[in-house]
Amino acid sequence: DTVFVSGATGYIAQYVVIYLLEKGYEVIGSVRSKEKGERLAGQLENKSFKYVLIPDIGAKGAFDGVLTTHPEITTFIHTASPFHYSTNEIEKDLMLPAIHGTQNALLAVKTFGSNIKRFVLTSSYVSNCSFLDDNSSNVTVDETSWNQITWEESLENAFNGYYGSKKFAEQAAWDFMKKEDLPFSLTCVNPSLVLGPQAFDLYAKGTVNTSAEMVNEILKLNVDSPIPKIKGPCIDVRDVAKAHLAAFENENTKNQRLIISYERFTSQGILDIIRETLPDLRSSLPIGTPGGQIEASRNTCIIDNSRTKTLLGYNFIPLKKTVTESIEQAIRANTYT
Ligand code: NDP
Repeated sequence: DTVFVSGATGYIAQYVVIYLLEKGYEVIGSVRSKEKGERLAGQLENKSFKYVLIPDIGAKGAFDGVLTTHPEITTFIHTASPFHYSTNEIEKDLMLPAIHGTQNALLAVKTFGSNIKRFVLTSSYVSNCSFLDDNSSNVTVDETSWNQITWEESLENAFNGYYGSKKFAEQAAWDFMKKEDLPFSLTCVNPSLVLGPQAFDLYAKGTVNTSAEMVNEILKLNVDSPIPKIKGPCIDVRDVAKAHLAAFENENTKNQRLIISYERFTSQGILDIIRETLPDLRSSLPIGTPGGQIEASRNTCIIDNSRTKTLLGYNFIPLKKTVTESIEQAIRANTYT
């Protein structure tokens, strides 16, 4: 079988591609430039991986070409979407590429993907839950929950813009499916903050992708730096990638939203883990106020993703392992190569 993965060079997508290749699938990934495609192909070293150039998923008809030339594709995994907070043009840089990219992908599958049976969308926990709800102890979030953020609120700042981009893109996908009688099904993979090592050390140099950088930031602190105040629910990148395979291989995940989330973290909690598991780093890092992981679940909502866990049937990787392996990789990648 042949699987298409949009945004194949992305942090999560690289693992998705690796796991697909390991299971014997042919993989066609979209990348934004030849240079990025060659770099990834060089790391994967697998003849079953091919890339196509799609520089902008938001451009009309972005996916038409690849589906016309590759009728053998049976599964479409749409991971590409802007994930950064470095823009003032929120609608243009965050919201519209996410929404139009998703609509372009679905329309291309409907029009040209005659053999496609499953469509997997990488959505997000932020599509289920607002920042405020996540920090409310009287709220329970499950696979049926929706972030109530409005279009106007999304435009207030880039942080809200990312939340809105994921919520409105996922909503557009379900709306598309509702309007038509389609020969393929949709499954959404909704991870909370994704942490863990890059698939290849090459990508671990310098500043990494938005979510994984939150762990690297702790490593970059000095003994007397203040501790960042970031907190939230999180999940290991490898568990997120595995869920993308379950999202099309498993009959029971059809038309489902899967919340992929495990432990909660705080920046202090990550620091505590690093100090515990990598004692050589203690002398170069601050101490802060140890006990961060106890704080992590204070005044937060309950995430009930028992339905997802039952559907997936595998255990999630503990945060201690996720953090330790990220830091080990960051040190290795930035020191020796
Ligand atoms: P990355 O930034 O590593 O991956 C995003 C990918 O999308 C990159 O390959 C990027 O290409 C591509 N992309 C972005 N905008 C466009 C565009 N306009 N046209 C074409 N390609 C584009 O982040 P992640 O791997 O973390 O994110 C992957 C998906 O997972 C996203 O949909 C994200 O919203 C979702 N997600 C991520 C979470 C996390 O914590 N990491 C949590 C929940 C959901 P390039 O790098 O070349 O610009």
